[in-house]
Amino acid sequence: MKQTLLAGLERLNIELPPERVETVLRFGEAVLEKNKVMNLTAITDPAQAAELHLLDSLSLLKVLPLAGKSLLDVGTGAGFPGVPLKIAEPSLRLSLLDSLQKRMRWLETEALPELGVEARFLTGRAEDFARTHREKFDLVASRAVARLDLLCELCLPFVHKGGYFLAMKGALAREELHEASNAIRLLGGSYERTAEFEIGGAVHSVLVIHKTGRTPEQYPRSWARMKQKPLSQGSRIKDQGSGT
Ligand code: SAM
Repeated sequence: MKQTLLAGLERLNIELPPERVETVLRFGEAVLEKNKVMNLTAITDPAQAAELHLLDSLSLLKVLPLAGKSLLDVGTGAGFPGVPLKIAEPSLRLSLLDSLQKRMRWLETEALPELGVEARFLTGRAEDFARTHREKFDLVASRAVARLDLLCELCLPFVHKGGYFLAMKGALAREELHEASNAIRLLGGSYERTAEFEIGGAVHSVLVIHKTGRTPEQYPRSWARMKQKPLSQGSRIKDQGSGT
């Protein structure tokens, strides 16, 4: 895991103090260890975990300056991308959100305290927290949670005007962006650019969406309503379901 992480950091041109690299590695190892008894990730190979979890998360360091910013990770799962980013940039004010209590409890009571990493924990559905934490964050990041049109409705309400939503996507990024263009506009966003990284032989895309206006109060709607009538309807190419 260490060799793959170090080689990848060099390729991505990310410089980190050795003690932060060690802490990122300890977190990666803790995820794989806990994965033996709790369903956290489909990836069990340490080198693959270094690429697909650690380096993919850390690539966000190259997208926007994170120092001192508040960042919400929506659908963090086992802590990606939020936790590696907080370790790499300790001044980041990190909040982790997920509806799965078991994973959140592990992060909150075991994994992060053992590493001395601080974060806020929002356990519940993004659609519900969007009411109480509306337009409170400089940045929102999300990976592998939903198709982009639905994800924008879950994430953009949390971003304050002037902030950014960073959607981490794979090979379908361009197609999803096309499909979500109506949703982005309706929710007060504006597509700015795509940052691309080659990690483990595949292209990883980060769609950078600027929050240029307020999100109308009626969004986000319930998950059932979002799925039934996505904001992109009309320009939709095909329904790919909610997970990625
Ligand atoms: N982001 C992590 C990663 O890339 O490894 C986890 C991805 S996992 C496939 C998707 C996670 O999103 C799950 O932990 C699930 O509980 C969470 N999730 C999906 N929809 C959600 C919602 N509406 N509100 C909160 N969490 C949600």
